[in-house]
Amino acid sequence: MEREDILPVMYDLVVTIGSEISTKSLLTRTLQRLLYHTSFSAGFICLDVPFCGKAHGQVEVHLDAAVGDFDLIGEIGKPLHLPCALICQAAVREDEQTALLSALRCTQTQYKAYLRLPIDHCGVIVLLAAEIPETNLPLTTMLQPVLAHLAKAIVLCRNNDAYTSGLVTQRDMLEKVFESSYSSVMITDDKSNIIEVNPAFTRITGYTLEEVRGKNPHHLASGRHDKLFYSEMWRSINDSGHWEGEIWNRRKNGEVFPSWLSINQICDTNGKLLHYVGTSSDITKRKEAEAQIHQLAFYDPLTQLPNRRLLVERLQQAFSVGTRSGQHGAVLFLDLDNFKTLNDTKGHDIGDQLLAEVAERLNACVRDGDTVARLGGDEFVVILEALSTKSDEAAGQADLVAEKIRDALTRPYQLSNHIHYSTPSIGVVLFRGHQQSLEDVLKYADTAMYQAKTAGRNTIRFYDPVMQAAIEARAELEEDLRHALEREQLCLYYQIQMDSRNRPLGAEVLLRWQHSERGLISPAQFIPLAEETGLIVPIGLWVLQTACAQLRLWQSNEMTRDLTLAVNVSAKQFRRPDFVAQVQRTLVEAGAKPALLKLELTESIVLENVEDTISKMRELKLLGVSFSMDDFGTGYSSLQYLKRLPLDQIKIDQSFVRDIASDPNDAAIVQTIIAMSEVMGLVVIAEGVETQAQREFLDLRGCHAFQGYLFGKPVPLAEFEAQLKN
Ligand code: C2E
Ligand code: MG
Ligand code: MG
Repeated sequence: MEREDILPVMYDLVVTIGSEISTKSLLTRTLQRLLYHTSFSAGFICLDVPFCGKAHGQVEVHLDAAVGDFDLIGEIGKPLHLPCALICQAAVREDEQTALLSALRCTQTQYKAYLRLPIDHCGVIVLLAAEIPETNLPLTTMLQPVLAHLAKAIVLCRNNDAYTSGLVTQRDMLEKVFESSYSSVMITDDKSNIIEVNPAFTRITGYTLEEVRGKNPHHLASGRHDKLFYSEMWRSINDSGHWEGEIWNRRKNGEVFPSWLSINQICDTNGKLLHYVGTSSDITKRKEAEAQIHQLAFYDPLTQLPNRRLLVERLQQAFSVGTRSGQHGAVLFLDLDNFKTLNDTKGHDIGDQLLAEVAERLNACVRDGDTVARLGGDEFVVILEALSTKSDEAAGQADLVAEKIRDALTRPYQLSNHIHYSTPSIGVVLFRGHQQSLEDVLKYADTAMYQAKTAGRNTIRFYDPVMQAAIEARAELEEDLRHALEREQLCLYYQIQMDSRNRPLGAEVLLRWQHSERGLISPAQFIPLAEETGLIVPIGLWVLQTACAQLRLWQSNEMTRDLTLAVNVSAKQFRRPDFVAQVQRTLVEAGAKPALLKLELTESIVLENVEDTISKMRELKLLGVSFSMDDFGTGYSSLQYLKRLPLDQIKIDQSFVRDIASDPNDAAIVQTIIAMSEVMGLVVIAEGVETQAQREFLDLRGCHAFQGYLFGKPVPLAEFEAQLKN
């Protein structure tokens, strides 16, 4: 397609958009052409009329153009004073027409009458008809052909104007616009193949016309938008002929950039699609400016952390999320101890360096969704989200992060050429949803931080005294647990497992902690703590060693030599890469028969990493060790993975056994588990069997191994051995 052909398209576009050419000049040209091409003896004058709206008095008009053989031609450009009534309202009476004619000084009598056509509220075209003596037709009839063709003429005029020499200047102007436009312009044919681009396109994208001619604009796609984006865009273009929006494209040099793109369809008068025209501007700079404004408004320039404004926004969000989820959140209010001294003695540069480093360390301590903000000075706030729904657990989680932060911030700092030591004081307050106001939460956290300072700095304090007490108790327990092994406070209890004929099969070993002040502590209380702190690893090893030593001791006695021992394994322990080697070494060192050792796993261990679990189980099975799936039915109980695990036994959880006789639902679950185990060739054992009725129910349905208070509670070794003798 030639450039000559492109320009009319562009012209058309401009006309369509309606900015460059007024209806008035369009109409004038139309009439000019119309009168020229018909031999109708008529003339017209075009008046420029300011908005007047008056009904009386005079209005000043300018004569814009005139066609016809009369005196007025000499008056073009001059102001005329005409009665408002004639110009601004429909003058239909004969005397009004005569008055207008004389006002227009149409001295030649051949023009008899007129028709007023208001244009765009700002102009008037007066049609003049020559007096034809031999006819006595009314004026409207005489002007009929003119009016009938007017609409058609406008269309014709629009389509042809660009070709006429009279519009060369217009075309030149369009070409200039096209060439010098700051916006990139791309024109395609009806198949979306690029046929023309302007210099701005080349400047922005790096592609010359030669490089993109015939290509689809998708050539510029950045890959940032999905299929849906483009299908929506095309839907809009096809439906309305137009699309406008922000789009990311790729420059020739590979750089991705944002632009504001507007696409228009260009059709001919019959509605046949001819072209697509895309105009766009590179908005990288605007985006950068926006980002910069955002950065300044919401971030602290020294540390790049969110400032108070953003903190408040995030906290508000956290409140809303908490309201929906029921989960707790926590605000940690931090202040660096003795920061002022550093600032005063070493100068602000050094102080700033410390703050920037603190910001970095804080960010490293929290999860992705959490917020670290700087309030100013040496004050920081951390928002933790998605903590437990239980307040005591949430307090534990918040405390853990606070400890981590304290550890991180007390490590030495390298500031310029000297080492600096700093400690924080941390105040913690929990929140859940909108229970408290935002101001209150921040105020409480601040108060707690001051309490931490008074308590001797480098300290963590909860605002809630009950919570503070619970946290302290927990910290104490943790400290005691660290010494439990060496102080020999841990011991194993044995709970007997029986078959249907009341023959002992073995026992499950269950950990007990004999605390010097608190007495016997249940594993339910300290195992989670041991898991969290990693202490479960040495403790679990000790359980394994003790159980294996016991198996070895039982070997010499006929009554006990075939008993198995079931040992609970925690996730942290099982996940260790050396777990298999550890079990093997323990068995060898104790001289125990692997076949008598049964490891109890839970579904959560398996699901954490199915592949790792399977491979470790296989290795251990090769040694002769067997496996039981503990608490079965309470987790996901996915048959998908169950089929793949080299299990020996399934342990029906006590929660199902408890109501087996009264709850038909539980009864059905238990029956299903038993039937399924049969199919898979697994032994089933029921735990928590407390009554004869439960035992009989299970036995009747095919579960022939039991553990529970009906047969015996977990007891110390001596008691267990006495139990065996009965
Ligand atoms: P578990 O492995 O499911 O152990 C069964 C729990 O049910 C034991 O609680 C046991 O005392 C209790 N139980 C047994 N029969 C009955 C009964 O008839 N009725 C009722 N109501 N309860 C019965 P325990 O000893 O408090 O242990 C709790 C959990 O602590 C164990 O659940 C196990 O997950 C964990 N645990 C215990 N010892 C160890 C250990 O050495 N290592 C690891 N990692 N976890 C252990
Ligand atoms: Mg168990
Ligand atoms: Mg269990």
